[in-house]
Amino acid sequence: MSDKSVILAADVGGTTTSVGLVDHQGEVLTQRLASTRGNGLTIERIVSLLGEVKREGDRQGLEVEGIGIGIPGAIEKGTGRIGPEIHNLPELANLPLGRLLTERFSLPVFVDNDVNALALGEGYFGVARGIQNFALLAVGTGVGSGVVVNGKLVRGASGYGSEFGHVPLNLDGRPCFCGSQGCLKTYVSGPDVAAQAHERLRDRPSGLLWELAGGDPQRVDAELVFQAAKAGDPLAAGLVEEVCRYLGAGMAVIINGLNPELVILTGGVAESLREHFPEICRWCHRYAFAGAISAAKLVCLSQDKRTSVRGPAALVLYELGK
Ligand SMILES: [Zn+2]
Repeated sequence: MSDKSVILAADVGGTTTSVGLVDHQGEVLTQRLASTRGNGLTIERIVSLLGEVKREGDRQGLEVEGIGIGIPGAIEKGTGRIGPEIHNLPELANLPLGRLLTERFSLPVFVDNDVNALALGEGYFGVARGIQNFALLAVGTGVGSGVVVNGKLVRGASGYGSEFGHVPLNLDGRPCFCGSQGCLKTYVSGPDVAAQAHERLRDRPSGLLWELAGGDPQRVDAELVFQAAKAGDPLAAGLVEEVCRYLGAGMAVIINGLNPELVILTGGVAESLREHFPEICRWCHRYAFAGAISAAKLVCLSQDKRTSVRGPAALVLYELGK
């Protein structure tokens, strides 16, 4: 390993993909943001973005020692094959991405769930540095989580380990794409916050949220709900209160299940609700074992799409045992 050795990393999102070169200290040396879907196949798009950034590294005399990829879905353990359920990018379902990229680039390739990678990124370069037991809950378009226990990433028997977005919190609750119902995700993800607002506005089409949307339910998204709640709209404020309560309960499931030292709440919805974080923590205290939550630090963390490649870069260091 030379001091010019870097990781080629990609954080593949439902809409945007970030590709970059990251050094062993987590410094992002080169970074490219592009829409995940180009004109052709999504896989070709990913390969061409990786190739582009790698060539840039070659020009700078950097030596790429491995490739790390974060994917928004479950990944088959050990093979880098994408699982059958990849909600935001169904065209990538069952794709043997690890093998394809190994053949294409002749480098060690590691593919994992994007939130697992994000958690490792915090463990190597961020707020969880030096912490052996921690969990990260990412709440945005979907709800994902990554868990590290005794310094090891938890993947489980078939790659579904730590899917805390899909713990059933309401036995007769809202249907979920995962086939279950009442999952944490169905109450707190951005699209689900919007859907619950739609349902309530259907029964009571009035108030500030209704006005902000110009009477058009299609214009109600999570951000508009949060904005209306801030301005005192009772319907939106009530919904935000419930979202906080569910988030607190979801974090309590993690705390009672794992007894971590740190729980990181992150993602677009978490960031929008940052000023409600104390309330989320209060609910978490209400639902978790006192002895377990007293050992856990709770933090709300902002993410920057420009540095999200640090997650899959950390995945490579983790897999190479560095
Ligand atoms: Zn679910």
